[in-house]
Amino acid sequence: MTRYSLFCGRDPVALGIEDETGGWSLDALRAHIETCPICRCGTERLTEAMDMSLAAAVLGKSRSPQKTAASRANGAKGGRPRVKGELDATLHRDGTVTYWSVYEQRWVKRGESISLDDLAAMSREERERVMRHLGMD
Ligand SMILES: [Zn+2]
Repeated sequence: MTRYSLFCGRDPVALGIEDETGGWSLDALRAHIETCPICRCGTERLTEAMDMSLAAAVLGKSRSPQKTAASRANGAKGGRPRVKGELDATLHRDGTVTYWSVYEQRWVKRGESISLDDLAAMSREERERVMRHLGMD
């Protein structure tokens, strides 16, 4: 079983940082880093707030591969999560449209017309789709 190691080389179990199950106490780790000049020297260049995964990474092993993978996946997607279709207008057979009005902050159900402001807030694709449906083009 792989154990974390401290910069100073002291035994984390003896220091009360690691318990019998291999779990680490963040509070005990923080307390140790505050009092241990060797560990403090190794971590003080970090400007971010200390958290368990960061501390673990600093001390030799990342504890959160899921977190790393998640941020990598999000970065690959462009970093801007967007739920597609959430606010899409619904075109009805009777020639009306149900859409989210950004200006009124409510759903307009089966509207026979739409304000230019609301059209302007839509994507170009969506706007054209709605305008065509309402016979506005
Ligand atoms: Zn130390």
